[in-house]
Amino acid sequence: MPSAGSSSRGSAAPGTVYLVGAGPGDPELLTVKARRLLGEADAVVYDQLVSPEVLAAVRADCERVFAGKKGGGPGFQQDDIDAMLVRLAREGKIVVRLKGGDPFVFGRGGEEAEYLASSGVPFEIVPGITAALGAAAYAGIPLTHRASSSAVVFLTGHEDPSKANSSIRWEEYARLGATLCIYMGMRNLAGIVGRLQEGGMAGDTPAAIIQEATTGRHRVIVGTLATIAARATAEHFEAPAVVVIGDVVAHADRLAWFGPARAAAVGPGRT
Ligand code: SAH
Repeated sequence: MPSAGSSSRGSAAPGTVYLVGAGPGDPELLTVKARRLLGEADAVVYDQLVSPEVLAAVRADCERVFAGKKGGGPGFQQDDIDAMLVRLAREGKIVVRLKGGDPFVFGRGGEEAEYLASSGVPFEIVPGITAALGAAAYAGIPLTHRASSSAVVFLTGHEDPSKANSSIRWEEYARLGATLCIYMGMRNLAGIVGRLQEGGMAGDTPAAIIQEATTGRHRVIVGTLATIAARATAEHFEAPAVVVIGDVVAHADRLAWFGPARAAAVGPGRT
């Protein structure tokens, strides 16, 4: 909650942790609230997926802590991050915990907020544009469409779909008639599309992969359920990427608008 004494620092309250969604990459997709908090923060604890263009909104004298994994090596453990957020808040700082996309969509924002709540540290949640929404908008894919889809599902493809105890019932999602947006699905893509086809989804269902969506390195491939995994391998698509599957993907033919010239204007993206 904003406190009366904090007006000289804007309206953010010292001692509070703001769990903020950074959006998918394009800094203009930050919310007004996120941008204000980045300008007010004394400390920003950020993840791998936060683009350099977004971090540029942070004050020059703000303490920046990278809490991701460097080069795939060991990074901060969740416990370390939780403890650090509590420590920074107890030092009386305005703390922004900055996460790619939205903090409550595959972002462990729920776990961090629970830890803060149980530690008695005040917190607020600032939603962000989640990757699937940014990716679809910039690729010209309306996630719902009166003619072709009336539901959208956000799924994680992180789990190996061939595992006997895999908790995601891909065959059931195949039958929903919904647009499927798969996060973290690149490593297991071949297995996932196989399971969807076993569940009865037609091989010619349109499918797209959007890599580093909305950034200067935004790339898209459009294919079908049957072809998309091989295309991804051939064209070296990798994380971070969202896979969108469903008839709505066919609209990208006419609606894709974010070409290389516009991407270049956003910035170079991650290096
Ligand atoms: N909280 C984030 C998701 C974190 S999980 C959000 O709401 O977007 C990490 C996954 O998000 C990546 O593996 C990828 O599937 C997706 N992702 C994040 N940023 C992305 C981007 N700019 N382009 C495409 N996919 C992205």
